[in-house]
Amino acid sequence: MVTVKINDLEFKKFIPASKLEAKIAELAHKINEDYKGKTPVFLPILNGSFMFASDLIKEIRIDCRISFVKTSSYAGTSSTGQLKTLIGHEESLFNQHIIIVEDIVDSGLTLDKILTELRDRGAKSVEAVSLLRKKPAREKNIEVKYVGFDLEDEFVLGYGLDYDGLGRNYKDIYKAFSPK
Ligand code: 5GP
Repeated sequence: MVTVKINDLEFKKFIPASKLEAKIAELAHKINEDYKGKTPVFLPILNGSFMFASDLIKEIRIDCRISFVKTSSYAGTSSTGQLKTLIGHEESLFNQHIIIVEDIVDSGLTLDKILTELRDRGAKSVEAVSLLRKKPAREKNIEVKYVGFDLEDEFVLGYGLDYDGLGRNYKDIYKAFSPK
């Protein structure tokens, strides 16, 4: 078993890079089909989605634009429940087809806030693609049109996702476990 230790927690390999790559190709294929002739704007939510957004957008074959938003609602392994939009979207997203790019949807608080804000600003359409979706988001029926992998309520890191700032550089996704 491949494991890593960060501060007080142990993590084991969960989704290998090869599986991520295959799933991302599938997601990109669907987006390429659905947005033909539409020139969407991809809106990756930093920091966590930087690797996913990069790999996904490399597989996009239609004309598109890219703009970034930065938010934070996590401290350690749980949501603080308070969302701060740290860097806004400067360009006008009015009348644009927007695709929000998320690493993971957990409580759905982040995504819900961004979806509402963009719709209020007059976007033509707003959808979301998330590499991962946790159980609370499914239970609350948070709108995510494109989902890579559904997870239980478990803490993961790697492939852009961090634990207190560490682990974003791993190319595979790991999940926290308690060693016996
Ligand atoms: P939500 O607002 O849906 O509760 O949380 C969304 C954000 O919390 C994600 O974009 C991500 O940055 C962070 N997050 C949620 N679950 C996890 C997790 O299991 N691991 C890590 N590293 N971050 C998470």
